[in-house]
Amino acid sequence: MSDNVRHVLGISGGKDSAALAIYMRDKVPEMEYFFTDTGAELPEVYEYLDRLEDYLGKPIARLGLERPFEHLLQQHNGFLPSPNTRWCTREMKIRPFEKWVGEDNVVTYVAIRADEDRDGYKSTKPTIVPRFPFKEDGLVRSDIDRLLKQSGVGWPSYYEWRSRSGCYFCFFQRKSEWISLADRHPDLFEKAKAFEKDDTGAGKGYTWSQGETLEDLIARAGDIRIMASIPGELSRCRVGWQDLLCNLEDDNDDACLVCSL
Ligand code: SF4
Repeated sequence: MSDNVRHVLGISGGKDSAALAIYMRDKVPEMEYFFTDTGAELPEVYEYLDRLEDYLGKPIARLGLERPFEHLLQQHNGFLPSPNTRWCTREMKIRPFEKWVGEDNVVTYVAIRADEDRDGYKSTKPTIVPRFPFKEDGLVRSDIDRLLKQSGVGWPSYYEWRSRSGCYFCFFQRKSEWISLADRHPDLFEKAKAFEKDDTGAGKGYTWSQGETLEDLIARAGDIRIMASIPGELSRCRVGWQDLLCNLEDDNDDACLVCSL
């Protein structure tokens, strides 16, 4: 590989990409680490990035947005992003990354494990070539746990209440996780609520959680908590794409399958 190729590794704020950074630290010393900061990250993520930086011994470049989410939302006529119209990933993850690498020849290392059946982000730019070291070397979930433990970096603390990394308002989170967000970060929950347009009765509302506003969701928090504690019961309060997500591993690193830059 020629010398003018950049080697980059995206940190999502989740455990798998952190484990990949740990795994690659001594294998590719010239590696550049980056984090696409949507401005809607959980505070726990920043704390985890600091911990990881200490281990890596070099900074993780923080790629910010040119314009905040509020502006992007306006541009999209107030339409919240959703699994069907995931403009957030394009605007807040892919665009800042592609701007950062420019026209450079880049190898990007992607944290998809050998025991996962998904592709992850693939750029349309021929200058950006992905590599999948965990897949190439056959590393599975237990290897990731070992890397995190042995390095002393450990797991992000939000795993106590949330199963995936991603924006605090990510529409991929479960209803029970919305309730945990309200408990742990009431300010962020309120901010997420403020983005909704409550006109669901007329079929015009834009809500984060399919079929109900966050206010309605929190009003039945007790029921959701009970259902979440009974194996199999939670699926009764999910609809559509949420059922699909139920089939993913609980601890899947990436809230959004394309957010795994
Ligand atoms: S984490 Fe969720 S809300 Fe944030 S950019 Fe990815 S899909 Fe969109």
